[in-house]
Amino acid sequence: MDKIKVKDLEVFARHGAFPEENVLGQKFLVSVTMYMDTREAGMTDNLTKSIHYGEVSHFIKKFMEENVFKLIETVAEKLARELLIAFPLMEKLDLEIKKPWAPIGLPLEMVSVEISRGWHLAYLGMGSSLGDKKQYLDGAVRALQETEGCEVLKVADYLATEPYGGAAKEEFLNSCMVLRTLFTPRELLERLHEIEQEANRERLVHWGDRTLDLDILMYDDLVMDSAELTIPHVEMHLRSFVLDPLSQIAPYKKHPVLQKTVMQLRSELEND
Ligand code: AMP
Repeated sequence: MDKIKVKDLEVFARHGAFPEENVLGQKFLVSVTMYMDTREAGMTDNLTKSIHYGEVSHFIKKFMEENVFKLIETVAEKLARELLIAFPLMEKLDLEIKKPWAPIGLPLEMVSVEISRGWHLAYLGMGSSLGDKKQYLDGAVRALQETEGCEVLKVADYLATEPYGGAAKEEFLNSCMVLRTLFTPRELLERLHEIEQEANRERLVHWGDRTLDLDILMYDDLVMDSAELTIPHVEMHLRSFVLDPLSQIAPYKKHPVLQKTVMQLRSELEND
């Protein structure tokens, strides 16, 4: 991907773990490599199609001056997030914060922290089998749209499906969505749990039936398996109530383990 870089922007700020650093302040040097597609800006010579590095530099200066953190790790983490949200054309960034005057009582050229952060694509499945099902799915979409660091890009049509698994009795309403997100998979799962819990607060006790169920189906091309999270979702390729809506909004997305597109998985499942 194309890059726009700002190197060693000088800012005087008060971050540091020692109290005197918070009072006296010191020099910081900030470098950022921003990843975006510059083709359109380059072809049209139009600044609004690009990231204005002057605005980025002033944004960094303001952020560094207006906040005080103990760690440059925190400065980097929070600044990266703010930059990605404020400049939507930025897909990803590498951010380095240098401290040339780090007061450790020894001579050094500088200390620095460098991080890479960016937007990810998450494919979510959702279902409801209790109460006002459409309202629960609408509510989940809205809650994610209103979550800072999440942008709902596409939502599939809602699909009425047969109860799934032994315990559920009611017909389900299912759908899928594609999100652009700054959350890690774990953070996203935590957010989904909060949204589920809010919807389930008035849940009637009908074992197997639920007001809202949210699953992470895929996350970029990530493959992971931990105690709390398996991505891609272990059963996604076996469920037509996932593949039908998902093929509407992401037909060519490839399952990173099975190496087949959503459309292929769906037609294979239909032919079984
Ligand atoms: P359920 O409510 O039956 O969908 O199960 C939810 C639990 O499954 C969560 O608490 C997760 O810890 C775990 N889990 C494992 N992989 C996933 C995934 N890809 N998406 C959502 N939950 C998952």
